[in-house]
Amino acid sequence: MNIKINKTKIVATWGPACEDETVMLNMIKSGVDVFRFNFSHGKHEKHLEGFNKVKKLCAEHDLNIAILADLQGPKIRLGLVRDNLEVLETGSTIEITTESCLSTYKKIFVSYANLAKEAEPGDAILIDDGRVELKVLTTDKVSLLTAKVVVGGKISNNKGVNLPDTKTTVPALTDKDRKDLEFALANGANWIALSFVRAAKDVEELKEIIGERNSYIKVMAKIEKPEALLEIEAIIDAADGIMIARGDLAVEVPQEKMPLIQKDIIKRCIRKAKPVIVATQMMESMIENSNPTRAEITDVANAVIDGADAVMLSGETSMGKYPDRVIHIMEKILNNIENHSEMIYDKQLIPNKGSASFLSDAICYNAARMSSELGAKAIVGMTFSGYTGFLLSSYRPRAGIFIFTENKELLNSLSLCWGVRAFYYDKFVGTDTTVRDVIRILKEKGLIKPNDMIVNIGSMPLAARGRANMMKVTVVE
Ligand code: PEP
Repeated sequence: MNIKINKTKIVATWGPACEDETVMLNMIKSGVDVFRFNFSHGKHEKHLEGFNKVKKLCAEHDLNIAILADLQGPKIRLGLVRDNLEVLETGSTIEITTESCLSTYKKIFVSYANLAKEAEPGDAILIDDGRVELKVLTTDKVSLLTAKVVVGGKISNNKGVNLPDTKTTVPALTDKDRKDLEFALANGANWIALSFVRAAKDVEELKEIIGERNSYIKVMAKIEKPEALLEIEAIIDAADGIMIARGDLAVEVPQEKMPLIQKDIIKRCIRKAKPVIVATQMMESMIENSNPTRAEITDVANAVIDGADAVMLSGETSMGKYPDRVIHIMEKILNNIENHSEMIYDKQLIPNKGSASFLSDAICYNAARMSSELGAKAIVGMTFSGYTGFLLSSYRPRAGIFIFTENKELLNSLSLCWGVRAFYYDKFVGTDTTVRDVIRILKEKGLIKPNDMIVNIGSMPLAARGRANMMKVTVVE
């Protein structure tokens, strides 16, 4: 099958617009590496249908497409609104209650029980991605607040509410998240995204549950709260990957700060060898239009230049008119940057001598450097934990990164990492045999050819399945 392959990966959100298997296959052919399932919407039966379609397409076409289950997290919402439409008048004073009621232009319900206790006069309350802005005037510290409508507008059923100034005590994982997590674990998701992460301990709590289930599922922390920015290094350390969730982020922090936050987080993630996704509104206008705006094209290109592992589409693929075409156009943007910009390659990240993994880090670092000096076609590594794949990816070599693993759960997870392609391999006889074997497999797949130079890294003795401690240069026969 002819598939577009880029270094930068594409994450597409699954939904009604792309649930047809033929559409999904076309999207994969155009460059999709990961399907994201948004657990803020839809029932488990529907998600299961989507999971099964991804798995079926992978099995039929020998593909490793990852399934990313995106948990809703402690999202705060309005409840039902009278006639599903009320207008809050700029300058008016309204009441806010945490006791369930039908919201009107005079009094609205907000679904966070501790709001009156934790909010202070002066705190902002933002509704519907910040389209409507309130400022708290008073609170009875029980269940009722009053607020000034700073920017008025329409409100409707279940719109999201953001509290950027209030230090909330919402749990990291809601009851719904726990049920969705069990579903995702039981049905073979490869990545779990945790929304509204505030601290490293939120990620650790999720990892503890996953650990109890003996699962290798990877955890992605969505960065969309100002508190997370204060603890970003610890969160990146705790998570396996990061999503820059620009939708909520740009509501929770002053929106003009978002571009530099994006660049900063990407740089930190590359330094720590953690894959990072840039998400939201990348090609938003293509929900309706057959072509993106100039600004969107530039936004996607800039995310690639910033060094993102992956770029993500939300409504564009889940409910847009052009779920396949948007991938096709995005792929061309990625491809053009990868072919014409030097800036994205060869990150000089000198391994840290104090690190427990210094030896294997030095092997991976030098394999990447060597591949660049030799003009090698590929770096080939073996891994069980995925570490070698993540690390090689962080050096952003021009050479292909081909990772062989016997860990089936990892095959799809690695699809999110910049430049990495993973293959199943479980014959651990001896280093010479394995090097010969993997070269044969890559040749058969048409990924390398005679006279190509390959940098192999591995662990000797092979059977010990340790971290990389060996590097070898091979010319393909
Ligand atoms: C975002 O806020 O950018 C995001 C990706 O989260 P969600 O779509 O789940 O609200």
